[in-house]
Amino acid sequence: MAKQISIGIVGVGKIARDQHLPAIAANEGFDLVAGASRNAQVDGLRNYKTVQEMLAAEPELEAVSLCATPQVRFEQARDALVAGKHVMLEKPPGASVVEVTLLAELAKEHGRSLFASWHSRYAPGVETARTWLTARVIKSVQVLWKEDVRKWHPNQDWIWQPGGLGIFDPGINALSIMTRILPRAFFLKSAELWVPSNRQTPIAANLNFTDDHDTPVRAEFDWRHGPEELWQIEVTTGDGVLRLSQGGKQLHIDGAAVDVGPEREYPGLYERFYELITSGQSDVDLRPLEHVADALLLGHRHAVDPFVE
Ligand code: NAP
Repeated sequence: MAKQISIGIVGVGKIARDQHLPAIAANEGFDLVAGASRNAQVDGLRNYKTVQEMLAAEPELEAVSLCATPQVRFEQARDALVAGKHVMLEKPPGASVVEVTLLAELAKEHGRSLFASWHSRYAPGVETARTWLTARVIKSVQVLWKEDVRKWHPNQDWIWQPGGLGIFDPGINALSIMTRILPRAFFLKSAELWVPSNRQTPIAANLNFTDDHDTPVRAEFDWRHGPEELWQIEVTTGDGVLRLSQGGKQLHIDGAAVDVGPEREYPGLYERFYELITSGQSDVDLRPLEHVADALLLGHRHAVDPFVE
């Protein structure tokens, strides 16, 4: 059997329970032994209130998976790396771009693996889309990433605080796919941001990107959408239109559905983390976060109605 890596989970909230706990349980390479959360416990684990308590009490622990909110990611990751643990970061990998570059340096210094994970890149249609687009001439890209904030983020005040990203919390998933599948690097030219007058972060954003061939790459992110999510990337090429929909679960090329297999984003993430640890590597791609930072740098802000939960 493959080597088992002992792992602890930190920040036991929505995504930890929905995805991380089942994905770790299904992966024979990991042995989940401990949890750290101020207000939650996981049955069958040794539970602590903070990552620092967990690190002090678990010297044998080899890895941690950080699933708390992005505003506390840096301190948790730094303490874990300094304690000699391999670290997996939920997306976004940090509240600022530069703090994550520091974490990557710390990981190198301590000889540990750092995985800045982007779960949407593990949606089943993404790699097939990337391969198909590699040799294509891209004419334009249109991204629609729209959902109902009340359905997906009920009572999550952190998304409206600085570092919480607002609409870019889901929008960064689209950016993580775009930066993976598009063969040329693209950059932001202009953006419109709609910010509720009682909040710090945008509820909607329109982004106007291009590349060194002047290709139009446009994205509309919106949290004021109806009950049916619209998570779609359409790439018009010289050989027809490629459409990824349902967040990357479905792929159509020139109108024909492509069989991309079942959805397994989080199992895929833990397979990658295992591979990184056992091969002594890190995977830290900051491009999705850099595009969000650029949108917040360049965006033209419009105040809109207050958001009341
Ligand atoms: P959440 O349930 O609101 O928060 C996760 C946990 O973070 C909380 O239960 C809390 O645990 C901990 N936490 C919050 N503030 C903290 C603080 N100041 N110090 C230490 N711990 C703190 O959020 P979530 O939806 O799971 O999202 C967490 C991360 O996963 C985000 O970066 C998000 O973008 C990403 N994500 C979410 C989803 C989703 O569908 N929700 C999907 C993919 C990725 P304690 O209070 O017990 O400490």
